[in-house]
Amino acid sequence: MPPSPPSVRRLSRRDFLGLTGMAAIGGALTCVGASLGYLAVDRLSRARRTPLPTQTPVALPAYSKQIDRPGILERQDWGAHAPDHDAENERGFYGPDNREGWRVYEGDLRAVYRTVVVHHSVLYETDDPGTMRAIQQQHMELRGWADIAYHFGVGQNAQVFAGRLLNVRGTHVEGFNTGSVGVVFLGDFSLSVPTPAQIEAGRRLIDWLALRLELTHLTGHSDFNSDTDCPGQHLREVLSALAQSAGLALGTGGYVSEQT
Ligand SMILES: [Zn+2]
Repeated sequence: MPPSPPSVRRLSRRDFLGLTGMAAIGGALTCVGASLGYLAVDRLSRARRTPLPTQTPVALPAYSKQIDRPGILERQDWGAHAPDHDAENERGFYGPDNREGWRVYEGDLRAVYRTVVVHHSVLYETDDPGTMRAIQQQHMELRGWADIAYHFGVGQNAQVFAGRLLNVRGTHVEGFNTGSVGVVFLGDFSLSVPTPAQIEAGRRLIDWLALRLELTHLTGHSDFNSDTDCPGQHLREVLSALAQSAGLALGTGGYVSEQT
């Protein structure tokens, strides 16, 4: 299962910007009153020769960017197979002599991930869990990978599925996998439109990933690999809204890791 979020979060750049923005708004509304209050107290304290009382910190409203982990159906609950480390195109484990091997990221994932890459599955079975199983089967048996390529799936009925472990490099965007978290929306969105519930579930997932991993960018698969239409025109139309919701820039500009 994906690693639990650290129990203590350091203040991210996004948090910092959010808080300073909030403080600026609050300051504009309250500084006049605070100044008048200070003058009144100051006159009083000088008259009585008593020290100024310690100011009570202003209570800030609950920070809106505290996002709960969305409900995610774990691998064993949708019938995923275990990874196959003898897989033809992802054989063994990553190392200097095996750069295409199964790569487990070491350390804090916030230092690894920058971009969320959105996909559509194209294939769709009769339901969401069956589609996840079919994708994994296709990736392992036909593509020769050790596991399903994507880190998460988003079903048409709004169920979110755990895919490849989050601390393992995906195989979903050729040449740009390192540092890219893969999210697949189940369906063919060159032909049909994602359901509103599916878009909302994907939005919540990506909001959480952006905060959890301190991502900077969101993009569609075809922006990295121009030989594909993925994620399809009807899903591509909502990428801007998804990026905006998560506070991410749209595009491939966040890619900084080695190209593997
Ligand atoms: Zn794709």
